[in-house]
Parts: sequence; C-alpha cells; structure tokens
Amino acid sequence: MNILMLGAPGSGKGTQSELLCDKKAFIHLSTGDLFRKNISGETELGLLAKSYINQGYLVPDDVTNKMVQVFLKSESDNLIFDGYPRTIDQAIELDIMLRTYDKSLSHVIYLDIDNSVLLDRIVNRLVCPTCKRSYHKITRRPLVENICDFDSTNLIVREDDTLDKVNQRLLTYNTQTKPLIEFYKDRLIKINANNKRPEELFAIISEALGI
Ligand code: ADP
Repeated sequence: MNILMLGAPGSGKGTQSELLCDKKAFIHLSTGDLFRKNISGETELGLLAKSYINQGYLVPDDVTNKMVQVFLKSESDNLIFDGYPRTIDQAIELDIMLRTYDKSLSHVIYLDIDNSVLLDRIVNRLVCPTCKRSYHKITRRPLVENICDFDSTNLIVREDDTLDKVNQRLLTYNTQTKPLIEFYKDRLIKINANNKRPEELFAIISEALGI
C-alpha cells in the first residue's frame, strides 16, 4: 500500500503521516522535511531550496523530482508521500518513477479544510525538529513550555510559518497543487478535516484505508 497525503499547508498531512507510521510499518517521505534537512546541513540543494521555500514558492520540479528519485531507489513499498507531488508535472514524473521500480500509488487521501482554519494553525504552529510533531501555541500546547512532550527537544517556529509567507504558500497551493485533486480522482478519498482533533481525523483515515 503506497499512499499520497494531499492537502493545503497546515491541513495535517505531516501529523497524520506520523500517526500512520506509528500504527503500521510505513515509510514517510516528506519533501518539506528533506529540504529542511538539507537547509540545516547547508548542502548545495539546501541553499537552492531555501531561496524558494522562504518566499512561499515551490522548489523547481527537476530539483524536487531528483531528490525523490534518490529516495525511491532505496526504499521498498508501504510509502507515504507527504507533500509530493505538488504539481501535475511532479505527478507525471512520480508515475514514471514508480513504474520503473514496479510500484504504484494505491490511495490518495485528500484533507479538505477551510482557509481560516489553516491560517490560524500555521501562524500558531510550533514544531519539534526531531520527531516533527506539531503543537499549537494556544489550543495544543506542550506540557512544558516550548519542549516536545515526546523527546524533550526545544520546539521551533518554522521560518516559512509567518503570515506573509503563509498567504503566498496558500496561493501556490491553490494554483499549482489543487489540480491534483482532479488528476487523482480515480483514487481520491476526500476527508473533511475541519474541526477535528488529530486522533479523530486519524480514526477516519484508518477506517478509509481499512487498516
Ligand atoms: P507545508 O505542507 O506546511 O507547506 P512542507 O514541509 O510540506 O509544508 O513544505 C514546505 C515547503 O517546502 C513548501 O512550501 C515548498 O516551498 C517546499 N516543498 C515541499 N515539497 C515540495 C514539492 N513537492 N515541490 C516543490 N517544493 C516543495
């Protein structure tokens, strides 16, 4: 079973992917996390990616596709694609790559959520750089201020989580990523993600996937 998590920034793709990995032996591919790893390691790829990410734009398709290809070569099945593909061209490229490795995408989970909810979540988001869990400054605070409940790492605010960048990211999502809903309509499982706690949403996703 290979799954794509589709949805706007802040819709909960990363959180739900982590929950799926905890429940079953999935392998989580988050292109955002891979870019951030390269940025903190100051690699050439990281420096290039940073110039796009910090403006709320997508990293160019050829750069992103190459990074995913390296990942796919080394992994087997039970993959969760989180944040990739984000354009029709990436989706076409992924299809070609998967076929080369004799894999396919079996389910596409689309987390549908209102813009106002997204904005509130992202500008109040704190993340753990180690386990990638997300918190909310007001409604989902860690037990100890600024410390991850699970691994005691200091929480951070992502550089691209400021209001101006979020607005650009949402625009980018609406123009470049939303067309994927139509592209994957044969495999799409649409889930209303408004007003649901992560655990509630996870129960709905698990049921839809039959796991
Ligand atoms: P979010 O879903 O909250 O936007 P991500 O961590 O998935 O967060 O992505 C952060 C940023 O990394 C994106 O705004 C974009 O600039 C870049 N990025 C992630 N995935 C891709 C992709 N598939 N193609 C191009 N850029 C990407």
